Amino acid sequence: MEKHLSGVKPESWLVSAGRSSEPGAPLNVPPIPASNFIIGAGREYSRDDGTPTWEALEEVVGGLESGRAVAFASGMAAIAAVFDQLQGGAIVALPDDCYQGVAGLAVAGAEKRRWAVQRVAVDDTAGWVRACSIADLIWLESPSNPLLTVADLEAVCAAPRKPGAIVAVDSTFATPLNQQPLEFGATVSLQSATKFIGGHSDLLAGIATTRDDALWHALRKSRELTGATPGMLEAFLAVRGARTLALRLQRAQQTAMALAERLERHPLVSLVRYPGLPSHPTHAVARRVLRGYGTIISFDLAGGADFADSVCRNVRLIRHATSLGAVESTMERRAAIPGQGHLPPSLLRLSVGIEDADDLWDDLDSAIRTAAP
Ligand SMILES: *Cc1c(COP(=O)(O)O)cnc(C)c1O
Repeated sequence: MEKHLSGVKPESWLVSAGRSSEPGAPLNVPPIPASNFIIGAGREYSRDDGTPTWEALEEVVGGLESGRAVAFASGMAAIAAVFDQLQGGAIVALPDDCYQGVAGLAVAGAEKRRWAVQRVAVDDTAGWVRACSIADLIWLESPSNPLLTVADLEAVCAAPRKPGAIVAVDSTFATPLNQQPLEFGATVSLQSATKFIGGHSDLLAGIATTRDDALWHALRKSRELTGATPGMLEAFLAVRGARTLALRLQRAQQTAMALAERLERHPLVSLVRYPGLPSHPTHAVARRVLRGYGTIISFDLAGGADFADSVCRNVRLIRHATSLGAVESTMERRAAIPGQGHLPPSLLRLSVGIEDADDLWDDLDSAIRTAAP
């Protein structure tokens, strides 16, 4: 039972997919609390066979990327299932700037000699093309966290690869609406559904989508054997969140663009990283590979860590919290996170929500002015 985005726009698919059309069935697939099912119809145990609730989420997200999705307990669970595909002694190409959990997973595996890791700068397209000829897993994340560098997925996914190599793209910051890695030729696209798909900071879930049947079965097997299954309520809430993804994203990225432009002119801000700004080093690539510039802005203050910490304490509407992609705006100083000391000390990562743009600006501007040393 495969359903794809056919004939309708992603905005409509998000709203209409993952529903039953049986007369009398609930319009929304409900959270189904079941570990096991009556034998005879093929579905026996949820860890092995999935549940209708998980499948609704898989249909919604898989269809957006015209692939088949596997839902997991978290973004990291989905990512670990991709790394789980590697044979001993494999080579992994990893971005220099990427989600710290992925870097942590890759480094831990390298220390146990499961694989070797080579770091490549996100914007070093030639370096990625070279990596494609030797690596068994080409791991891309774009736009990257937290520097928002955009990789030239079009070029990297088209590069000749080692036979059997997997090109995986963590496309969480872009969402399936702004970037379609599988269209460029990636093997698997990853979403932390904890972020934009859920959209309300109230769940953990992850999704891997592929057009490669063998890989889809292998990811399902990995989920079965590691038990990294999504929660019943989480999968239900992720579908519910996905219904409004297009609206939330459109609104928040419009606001993000306006805030990025205003931050760039702010006397107490020294650098703004937002792929939509012409000043952004990978703006030209972003224009080509992304359909929208997203809702995350990273900016450096004209000052140090204390100044930035103080700004985080002073915001009122924006919440001082980690994570991103939700209806509410959140902000944090990334270098404060263990293992992220290489980042500029005053770098603040702002995830723009759906509040009023002027209210957000007033909050940010007054927090910066109040905190100024
Ligand atoms: C949050 C995040 C992850 C991890 O997802 P979880 O759902 O927290 O496990 C992976 N990649 C990116 C880019 C993320 O933002």
